[in-house]
Amino acid sequence: MRILVTGGAGFLGSHLCERLLTQGHDVICIDNFFTGRKENVMGFLDHPKFEFIRHDVVDPFKVEVDQIYNLACPASPVHYQYNPIKTTKTSVMGAINSLGLAKRVRARVLQASTSEVYGDPVEHPQTETYWGHVNPIGVRSCYDEGKRCAETLFFDYHRENWVDIRVVRIFNTYGPRMLSNDGRVVSNFIVQALKGEDITIYGDGSQSRSFCYVDDLIDGLIRFMNQEKIIGPMNLGNPVEFTMSELAQQVVTLTGTTSKIVHKPLPHDDPKQRQPDISLAKKHLNWEPSIPLKEGLKRTIDYFKKSS
Ligand code: NAD
Ligand code: UDP
Repeated sequence: MRILVTGGAGFLGSHLCERLLTQGHDVICIDNFFTGRKENVMGFLDHPKFEFIRHDVVDPFKVEVDQIYNLACPASPVHYQYNPIKTTKTSVMGAINSLGLAKRVRARVLQASTSEVYGDPVEHPQTETYWGHVNPIGVRSCYDEGKRCAETLFFDYHRENWVDIRVVRIFNTYGPRMLSNDGRVVSNFIVQALKGEDITIYGDGSQSRSFCYVDDLIDGLIRFMNQEKIIGPMNLGNPVEFTMSELAQQVVTLTGTTSKIVHKPLPHDDPKQRQPDISLAKKHLNWEPSIPLKEGLKRTIDYFKKSS
C-alpha cells in the first residue's frame, strides 16, 4: 500500500514510518519539524520507498494514498502550550485536511487521539464510553479540546460522507526518539538522572499514569488500522499504573544516579490519575502490551546514553 503519515518525523511517527517500510509499504511523511527532527527519519531517508514532504497540515495537501495516519500535533504539554492557538489549529485543520484528502482519494484515515479527551477523569480506569471531564478554558484545553473536536470531525465525516475512519485514543507512550527537551515525564526523569541533575517531581508525586513502550503502541496502531470490525474510538496503552514517585524511583535505580528527587509545583489541570481499560483492544485486535516498564525504561535509558 501507499501510506501517508502526518507528523512522521516525530517520536511516534518516525517509529510508525519505519515499521511500515519494514512491512514493504510505500511511505510518505508530512511534517513541519515543530517537534519532529530530521535525525528521527535519517535512518530511512534514502529508502527507495520513503518520501518526505516538509509541510504544515494546517494547509491542505494532496497525495494519492490508500491509508492516512494523522499524527501531526505536538504531544508534550510544554510544546503544545508554547503556541496554544496553533495547537488547536493543527488538531482541527489537520483533521479537516486529512479527512478531505481521505474522502477525495477514498483512503482509510486514522486519527491519533489521546487519553486527554478524558481530561481529569472521575471514572477509573477509563473506558471508551466515558465522555470525560475536561476544562474547556484551561491551559491544557488547546490540546484536549483540539483533539476532541478532531474526533467529532472524524465521526461527522464518517456519518455524512462515509469516510472510512479509525479513531485511537493513545495513552502515555515513551521510548527512544523522544526529544531530550521534550518536557514529558519519562524523558525528563531519564535526562535529569543521566546528567546528575535534580529529578523534578511536580506536586507530591501521587498522581498516576500508565506508560506504554513505543514498539507495543506501534503494533496496536497498525493492527487497529488494518482490521474491519471496529472504527473506534479505541484505547491503546499499557494498563499497568504507576505514581510519578514510583517512576522517579525506578529511574534512579536503573540509572544508578546520585541525583536528588525534588518537588516542583503541580501544573494547572494536571490529571490526577490515568489508566486505560483495554478490553476492546484485547477483544478486537488480540492486542496487549508486552514490554514492562522496567524493560522499556532500560531501552530508553540506553538510547539517551548513546544520543547525549
Ligand atoms: P511529537 O511531538 O514527537 O510528534 C508530533 C509530530 O507532528 C512532530 O514531528 C511535529 O513536528 C509534527 N507537527 C506538529 N504540528 C504540525 C503541523 N502543524 N504540521 C505538520 N507537522 C506537525 O509527539 P508524539 O508523541 O510522536 O505524538 C504523535 C501523535 O500521537 C500526536 O498527535 C499526539 O497527540 C498523539 N499522542 C501521543 C501520545 C504519547 O504519549 N506519545 C499520547 C497520546 C496521543
Ligand atoms: N511530571 C513530573 N515531572 C516532570 C514532568 C512531568 O512530575 O518533569 C508529571 C506531570 O505533572 C504529570 C505526569 O508527570 O502528572 C505526566 O506528565 P507528562 O507531561 O509526561 O504527560 P501528561 O500530563 O500529558 O500525561
